[in-house]
Amino acid sequence: MPDRRTRITRATRAGLAWDQQHHAVVPPIYLSTTYAWPKPGESPGHEYSRSSNPTRSLLADTIADLEGGAGAEITASGMAALTTMVAAFAPAGSLVAIPHDCYGGTWRLFTALAGKGQFELASVDFTDQASMAALWPRKPALVLLESPSNPLLRITDLPTVIDAAHAAGAVVAVDNTFLSPALQRPIELGADIVIHSTTKFLNGHSDVVGGAAVGATQEIVEELRWWANCLGTPGGALDSYLTLRGLRTLGVRMKAHCTNAQALAELLAQHPAVTATHYPGLPDDPGHDLARQQQDGFGGMLSFELADLAAAKRCLTGLTCFSLAESLGGVESLICHPATMTHAAMPPEVQAAAGISDGMLRIAVGIEEIDDLVGDLRAGLDRARRS
Ligand code: PLP
Repeated sequence: MPDRRTRITRATRAGLAWDQQHHAVVPPIYLSTTYAWPKPGESPGHEYSRSSNPTRSLLADTIADLEGGAGAEITASGMAALTTMVAAFAPAGSLVAIPHDCYGGTWRLFTALAGKGQFELASVDFTDQASMAALWPRKPALVLLESPSNPLLRITDLPTVIDAAHAAGAVVAVDNTFLSPALQRPIELGADIVIHSTTKFLNGHSDVVGGAAVGATQEIVEELRWWANCLGTPGGALDSYLTLRGLRTLGVRMKAHCTNAQALAELLAQHPAVTATHYPGLPDDPGHDLARQQQDGFGGMLSFELADLAAAKRCLTGLTCFSLAESLGGVESLICHPATMTHAAMPPEVQAAAGISDGMLRIAVGIEEIDDLVGDLRAGLDRARRS
């Protein structure tokens, strides 16, 4: 019988009827690394926890269900999910395409592997027709998309770009870390693979580093799992348990992130110290219409630009409701300077091409009381204005 409950309810209730022995409401953690065979030749199901583990499988099934995939592998980090995907779907000598403004660690991984001669790399603006028209005749084997992008919150027209990539023969992966399946489901829009840094919104509490790679078909899932086991990238049981606990509140957290981010974006958009605000929830944002079509909310991430680095430093110094820290997706608000923090792996010319300026700040908006956030950020912007 199909499960008619909404995704949010399914996330909240994942694994609750799982323990047949004691009927514990919250599912137990299986920390054992190995499992006894009932008799020779008769596998216990889970055999060794690098290959599979009951707690990790429960999280994998939950995330796959939320994303509408056939299955998933849980990895030790978002980078481990990307590494697994590249090993599985980028044949030697093939062409791989990534967004020119992707997460800095993603850029570093793909650039380093291409530098080793594993594949050829194209860095593409997937919001620009000319850039894409030059890519498709080169027949990429693997295309990675990130929408919204990090840190400029640019929106890629996922159904159109995925169709074009498929027509060119590519496997298409979408990094859905910024929105989570509560707000966007790339497989419904045609993607073959969804990547997550579960470190972010899925876990939601900044206390676990983890990742997930979701496959649209059983064949893709098997390939991802085979490579994860081979590379040793899977995540641990305790981390999986904590992530599943965080996932139960995904629905309410994402609503609060979106409401708070919208209010902060509106403050930024009218403040004289701010030269540009990047948030798809603003009606005049270039990605607004597309985001409305393919997302169920505008998300909890935004970035903005001040005059220069000195103004950015004045804004940052004295904030009490925003921690100066990398990462995102936790209940607490974080602010960072992409040029020297999250995107420091990109050389200055690559940052410039991606649109990352010295005066740019990125906020991962938390779920604190909005009046506190508005008051604190307004004071920071007023400081930025005073030279
Ligand atoms: N993808 C995106 C969009 C990210 O922002 C990050 C980390 O910030 C990653 C992947 C990598 O994830 P992790 O830090 O869990 O390895």
